[in-house]
Amino acid sequence: MDSWAAAGVPPDSASGNDSLPVHVVCAHCNATNRVPRARLDEGAKCGSCKQPLLAGHPLELTKANFDRHVGASDLPLVVDFWAPWCGPCRMMAPAYEEAAARLAPGVRLAKLDTEAEPEIAARFGIRSIPTLIAFKNGREVARRSGASNVAGLLEWVKASV
Ligand code: ZN
Repeated sequence: MDSWAAAGVPPDSASGNDSLPVHVVCAHCNATNRVPRARLDEGAKCGSCKQPLLAGHPLELTKANFDRHVGASDLPLVVDFWAPWCGPCRMMAPAYEEAAARLAPGVRLAKLDTEAEPEIAARFGIRSIPTLIAFKNGREVARRSGASNVAGLLEWVKASV
C-alpha cells in the first residue's frame, strides 16, 4: 500500500508537463479530482473523501463507476474483464495485482467481473476471458485476450498506452 508511489512508471506515460493538472477519479468515492501530475507521485489525496486517490491495486469496477473511471480520468486505464469461475483469470490475478503496483501512478489497472456485470461485457463484445482492454481518454486503444505473467502484462501495457 505504501510502496506504490515508488513503483516503476513507464517513461512515456509519466512524461508531459508536470504542472498541468490531470483529472483523476478517486478509487474510493469516485469523485473526479484535478491534480498536478507531479503530485500524483506523492500519494495525492482525494479532495472529497481524503483517502489516497490511487489505491495501488486493481480498482473494482461496476456498473456504478465504470463509465466515470473510463470517461472522466486522464490517466490511461486498463480493464481486466474476468470472472470468478475462470481458472486462467484467477491464475493471472497476482500478476495483475503486481503490475498495478508497478504501473502506478502513470497507468491505472482495474477489474470488471463479467459475471456480475454482463451488460458491460456485452457492450465491449467480450467473448473470452481474461480479456484486457486499454483505454485512453475514454476510448479503447488496445485489447488482448488470454492470461499473462507480470513481464508480459507490463510489456503490453507500456506498448499500448
Ligand atoms: Zn474520494
